[in-house]
Parts: sequence; structure tokens; C-alpha cells
Amino acid sequence: MNEKETDIIDVINPATGESAGTVKRCTKDDVHSAIEMAEDAFSGWAAKSPRERAKLLFLSAQEIRERQTELAELLTAEQGKPLFEAKNEIQGCAAVLEYYASISGTVRGDFLPKSDYGYSFTVKKPLGICGAIIPWNMPVLILAWKTGPALVAGNCLIVKPSSKTPLTSQKIAAILHSCGIPEDVFSVVTGSGSEAGSALAESRRIAALSFTGSVETGNFVEKLSCGTGKRLTLELGGSDPMIVCSDADIDSAVAGAVAGRYYNCGQTCTAVKRLYVMEDIAEEFKRKLTEKVSQIKTGNGMIKGTKMGPLIDMDAREKISMLISGIERDYGAEILTGGKITGTPELKSGSFFEPTVIAGAPKDCFLFTEEIFGPVLPVAVVKDMDEAIEEANRTKFGLGASVWTKSLKNSFEATEMLDAGIVWVNRHLKIPPEVPFGGEKESGSGRENGLSALDRYMKEKTVIMTP
Ligand code: NAD
Repeated sequence: MNEKETDIIDVINPATGESAGTVKRCTKDDVHSAIEMAEDAFSGWAAKSPRERAKLLFLSAQEIRERQTELAELLTAEQGKPLFEAKNEIQGCAAVLEYYASISGTVRGDFLPKSDYGYSFTVKKPLGICGAIIPWNMPVLILAWKTGPALVAGNCLIVKPSSKTPLTSQKIAAILHSCGIPEDVFSVVTGSGSEAGSALAESRRIAALSFTGSVETGNFVEKLSCGTGKRLTLELGGSDPMIVCSDADIDSAVAGAVAGRYYNCGQTCTAVKRLYVMEDIAEEFKRKLTEKVSQIKTGNGMIKGTKMGPLIDMDAREKISMLISGIERDYGAEILTGGKITGTPELKSGSFFEPTVIAGAPKDCFLFTEEIFGPVLPVAVVKDMDEAIEEANRTKFGLGASVWTKSLKNSFEATEMLDAGIVWVNRHLKIPPEVPFGGEKESGSGRENGLSALDRYMKEKTVIMTP
């Protein structure tokens, strides 16, 4: 919301501070025009068979795969993540579109038993014009999570990407159009959240809105949407706990924590944001973790060998830096590695921050209760599973959680007791397209992925036929 008010948005490469490209700053009028065009296109798109719509999504996914290098380079330039992560994300986008295309023929209602009134059945129908508001951290994957089910179900979709990362979304839209999905059926409106985003939230002509972003903005979007009759899906922030039990395979848990926290420079909704380690393995675990984290190669994501890129911008770096600055003095914690702005001369124009591990902070301090969106991992020692679960459930969040153990009993207890939309056992972070995903508590409502997301984009009509 602090972008300079011109009609162009300059997208800044966070690794270099240079421009990665520009986009139009769409106004509310631009959003209303996109809605109008979609309304004209809706009946034609909805009348196609799911198989016909799926064919166009398959073609699009194939083209995205063929152009993955070009798309990944653009994503790295605008978002900062290393090229290998950007490629994973582009491939993930193609996989999600393929998944929804592949299940297009499974859309069906119910046939109900004959009653005194005759035969009853339900049919599933598209909702109409849907909106999607997307954050900057996984802009392409999250775009696919919303686009696949919305289009297969027969809706038109208007996507508002983050103004920090609109470039790859625009290019993906051009690919979908070149593969036969009409421009008014699927469109991207670039612009600020306060202008273009709120126009989607406030509109009564948008039948469903899927929002992904912070809890704070999500709550605001919910207020804007209130009374408009739209179906709202909120995919919000998280502070995922990872519990490492005494019987865990320590090396694989350490590797899981490193991948789970420092992927995407710690800017993933379901990143490992808090570690709870049982006391009898805590020293060995912290030593191995610190050693691995201190070896993470930070740098420009375009350079081969880079394992962690910059934070999204200088403001994000300033925020992390401020948070950490008093942690030893004010909370008696110990920074085991990292803790500073990365100081090498070749990295000085980017928003780099060292991968950081912190031990000994009180379990009720902000590191454990808030969402820290950067490469900082606090580690706490717990005496047993009861304490681990109590601490894990302490926050207002309920997105993901993981438990690392060889015991079936621990796995059952954790999966049963943890307040989270998704619980992994001996893994964290990865979510295949067919697996539903979403939050509990203040982490949101509704689901993305799998058949659950397809349902979010369809309405059920009941027919009772009396002979
Ligand atoms: P954000 O809330 O700042 O912005 C998200 C989107 O909302 C952007 O497109 C922004 O332009 C738009 N927006 C801002 N103000 C708006 C308004 N008044 N009306 C309508 N739209 C508005 O979030 P961010 O910084 O881009 O992303 C990081 C957050 O997203 C983190 O909290 C992260 O955990 C969360 N996230 C959640 C998931 C999930 O699936 N649960 C996935 C990725 C990210």
C-alpha cells in the first residue's frame, strides 16, 4: 500500500535492486471492465463440456512445461528464489493444471432414493465470475491452485497477483490465452491490493473469492466481502511447529528442518517456523542443525549453486533485522548461527539476510507465537510429547505441523492432537495437487487442492421430479 501512486508499477528484483519489469497499475474501473467482459463470456464457457475445458488446460500445462526455463528465470528475477526452486514451482503449476484437467470427467451430483415425491437428484454447476487474490511468496503455484479448479468447473476467473510479483502471472495468462482459453474467461489484473484487490472483494458480481495472504489482510478482505453474497476462501498465515521426538532419525529430521525453514528464504506459509526437540536429543540436534544451516549458500538465485535467495524486499529485511536485534539482550536467547544482514560486497544491493538459528528464547516470546516470515528458526527444548503438543497449539495459527518419530503411538497422538489443517509425519512442506490443504483457527477457512477445492467452485442444485 506504500507504492508510489503512478499508473505503472515497477517490479524490483530483490537480489539486485534493479527493475525486473513494469506492469499497469489497474484501477477499480479496470477491474469492473474485466468483470463485465467475464460476464459476457461466462455462458459460452460454462456450456462447454468439462472435457473440452480440460483439453485447453492440458495444452496450457504442456506449454508451461516447455517454457519452464524462461518462466523460472522471470520468477527468480521478480521474487528472488533460486532458479531450482523457481523451476519446481513452475513444474508444480503445470502439475496442478494437469491434475484438475484429469479429473474433469468426475464432476457429478447425487442420485437420491425414490421417495413419496418421486425421484431426486443434484447437479453441480459453476458459480459464475470468481476472483483470486495472490501473495508474492509462491505466486505461480498459488495461481494454479485457484485457476485449475475454477476453470475446470466452468467459471470465469479474474486473478489479482501481488504487485511485487505480477510478471510471471502475466506470462502464464498469455500462455493460457495462446492455448485457447479466452482472454475474458481468464484475466489478470495487476495493481495494488487497496485498489484492484478491494474492487474484487467489494463486488457483488464476484460469486466467489479465494484469497491467499496474511491474517491481517485476510480479515480486512472478509470485512470488505461481507454482505456481497460471495463465497470466500481464506488461505492465511501460519506458524508451523515441528516436533522432533527422542526416537526420530536425527539426520533426516535435521535435513527436514533445513529444507522446511530455509526454502524460499523462509517465506513459505507452511515453512517450519518453530522447532520443539525432546531434551535427550536436543544437544546433538542443535549441533547438527547449526552446522547444516551455516553451510547454506546465500546469493543471487540466478547463480548456479545458490541455495537461498534474498528476502522479498528491503522492508522485509529491515523487519527481520529489527526483530532479531535484541533477542540475546532482551530475551536471553543465543544466536547459534546467522542473525545479521549478509554483508559481502557483491550482495549489498539485494535484501539478503543470513540463515539463522536461535536457541534458548522463552517459549512464549514472539519467535514462537507470531509468524516470522524469513530465514530464522527458533529451537525450544521440551521434556515430552504432552509439552510439545501444548506448546505447538499455543498460537492463534493452525496451518501445518509435523512430527518426526519412528513410533506409531507418537504419530497417532500428534496427528490427533495438533491444531492444524495438515499434519505431516517424518516430512514437512510438500503438498501434492490431489491432497486438500488449508488452515484452522486464524490460518483461514476453506480448502485448496484436491476434490475439496473443486467443490468450492461449484454450487449444488437439487431437482425433485414428481411423475
Ligand atoms: P498480503 O496479505 O500482504 O497480500 C496478499 C494479497 O492481498 C496481495 O495480492 C495484496 O496486493 C492483496 N491485498 C492487500 N491489501 C488488500 C486489500 N485491502 N484488499 C484486497 N486485497 C489486498 O500477503 P503477502 O505479504 O503477499 O504474503 C505473505 C502472507 O501470505 C504470509 O502471511 C503467508 O503465510 C501467507 N500465505 C498463506 C498461504 C496459504 O495457503 N495459507 C500461502 C502463501 C502465503
